[in-house]
Amino acid sequence: MTDAEPVGRYAPSPSGPLHAGSLLAAVASFVHARSRGTRWVLRMDDIDRGREVPGAADDILHTLEAFGMTWDGPVLYQSRRLDAYQAALEQLRESGRVFDCGCTRREAQTGPTGIEGPVYPGTCRDGLPPGRAPRSVRFRTTEGDLAFKDGIQGEVVQNPAADVGDFVVRRADYQFAYQLAVVVDDAAQGVTEVVRGADLLTSTPRQILLQQALSLPVPAYWHVPLITHADGRKFSKSEGAAALDPLRPVPGLLAALDRLGQSPPADLAAENVDTVLAWAIANWRVDSVPRRLPPTAETAYAS
Ligand code: GLU
Repeated sequence: MTDAEPVGRYAPSPSGPLHAGSLLAAVASFVHARSRGTRWVLRMDDIDRGREVPGAADDILHTLEAFGMTWDGPVLYQSRRLDAYQAALEQLRESGRVFDCGCTRREAQTGPTGIEGPVYPGTCRDGLPPGRAPRSVRFRTTEGDLAFKDGIQGEVVQNPAADVGDFVVRRADYQFAYQLAVVVDDAAQGVTEVVRGADLLTSTPRQILLQQALSLPVPAYWHVPLITHADGRKFSKSEGAAALDPLRPVPGLLAALDRLGQSPPADLAAENVDTVLAWAIANWRVDSVPRRLPPTAETAYAS
């Protein structure tokens, strides 16, 4: 954390329209920021062009507006930030924190199982084996625990070397990885407060490692609970969770506030978006946000 002016942010990926799960993160982030008069900026995480759905970025912006969440300043598009990611990669290379990896995806997945799948076995960390050409670039994780205090999930401890291993910062197709882009962009946007879905909780230690390696400030983190289907899968844009209806924002907002433990009064249902958000901002209690939510039928709150 820093003494800088506080800035919150929302950073959707344009892989489909917003749904109840993404709304939860957006509302939490927006209301948390505004409840203390904090700036709230927007970023379009469109670095992975392969996952982008045409029209989704504009659709997301319109939906946020329809739900009354207006952001400060211009939207930052990751697809226009490649020079900044390249500069960060060069900085990491100069300080010896990254190495070229010649492994194919399959070869890299032969290590022990970690929290997100196989841990990189370390094949190229001391130099490319003879005859191998560089493919991806990996961050060299250091041994030991990395701990941080999440504003909702509490104390989080991870051993990045054992749990994740040396992770990719630039893929074999020359695309920069989310982990690097998010760190560079949060710093560029002056973000001091990250409120986002708990699916990214296990990514945060990697991002803190990158922030430290790049001498960037470490923001404070709040990871809001995920909405999951009855079978435990999280709502996701790419899996076609029901899109929000921009013509009926109030029921969606109230459902999000309810899930965030804010107990909105029932009579807000007759009010407009601005009144609902004004109530939420005036009454926001981040310590009422639950760590987890019970599974829900997908249509329960779709509006
Ligand atoms: N773009 C990511 C997503 O939509 C969120 C990134 C972040 O909040 O750091 O899941």
